[in-house]
Amino acid sequence: MAGAQLWGDCHTHSSWSDGLFSVEELGRFYESFGQDFRIQTDHLIVAVPDGLPAGKWLHAAQWPDYRSACGRASAGEHICVPGAEVGWEVGSTAAPGEWFHTKLLPAAGEPFADESFFAGLSYVEVLAKAKAAGCRPVVAHIDQGAPLERLSGAEVCGLEVRYDIEETRPLLARPSLKQWDRMLAAGHRVSISSGSDAHQPDLWAGSGLRTVVLDTPREAEAIAAAVAAGRSYLSGTWHPDCYAAAGWPAHPNRLTGGITHFSPWWEFKQYKELQGRSPRALVVEIFEAALRNGRCRRDDYPVLAAFSVCGAGSGQQASAGARCEVHAVWHTHVPACLARIIADGAPVQQLTAGHPALRGMEGVLHETLDLRPIFYSFALDVSASR
Ligand SMILES: [Zn+2]
Ligand SMILES: [Zn+2]
Repeated sequence: MAGAQLWGDCHTHSSWSDGLFSVEELGRFYESFGQDFRIQTDHLIVAVPDGLPAGKWLHAAQWPDYRSACGRASAGEHICVPGAEVGWEVGSTAAPGEWFHTKLLPAAGEPFADESFFAGLSYVEVLAKAKAAGCRPVVAHIDQGAPLERLSGAEVCGLEVRYDIEETRPLLARPSLKQWDRMLAAGHRVSISSGSDAHQPDLWAGSGLRTVVLDTPREAEAIAAAVAAGRSYLSGTWHPDCYAAAGWPAHPNRLTGGITHFSPWWEFKQYKELQGRSPRALVVEIFEAALRNGRCRRDDYPVLAAFSVCGAGSGQQASAGARCEVHAVWHTHVPACLARIIADGAPVQQLTAGHPALRGMEGVLHETLDLRPIFYSFALDVSASR
């Protein structure tokens, strides 16, 4: 893990579909958060067989223009990687409820599938066809009802866990990750990545769990390939509610049921009359508050400086077994309170507050363990250090 790390968000929306800002504007916002890249995943709606539904969507015929716009939005340090989020639940020939949002991370220059690509196929068949065509399917926000039990893991490149100011359920407690374990244990190489699913560039984007890709050139296709292959790790931190600080009314959170001040773009519209400003101006106000005190800059996130299992790094296959060495080095902005090595979905080793490795802002963990050759991850928790 000695090479450069690129930090990014793998699920974002712009005005090409239902997002509030253009791809060029988003580049400036994301760069301010210290994000090297974002994968632009505007909603692509397939028109089979009933025509395009009402609303603003990306559709297949627009793909070349959209890809060019993403390229032009990469003029600065921040790279906009063209991708799409396919919503097959509208207009498809499949049974209602069978379809689920899937991100496609197509290779640069490759023609994007048109609507006929999807006609008459089941969800699982479409995923397999898209993967065979090089479109790199990644199942989006897997904790929101994705039918993972229907997938073997062979049909997809990856799974996405969503974590942002709205979707804050603890990552390691989510049952969907067991399905990831099952796919890996069956021998399928399925990566895990994260996205904010932000439709607005304020703390919705700034609070997202970052996907950090390793040893990757600052170039769109290389980044998409690294995400799909899992040459990466995830980094997250906690966030004060900048919406509450700005005085937005509290209301029930649609995902967790709790009370929140977070306001997605479709709710900002109601403030237009109340405060005499446009939704976009209000979002910019929250964005500036997030930069001041939102803990959303690069320095607020833990950095994994080294990680290996039996000498294999992230995205590499480890020949694990008896007496396997697990090595991790990290830097944090506050001391970590918990470090775990997880195999097959359960902690096999755990360091808690007071352990020498967790005392400072720099940590080193070196353990020799008996591990089965399936799935390993490493988790740090800084949440008790707020
Ligand atoms: Zn979605
Ligand atoms: Zn989305």
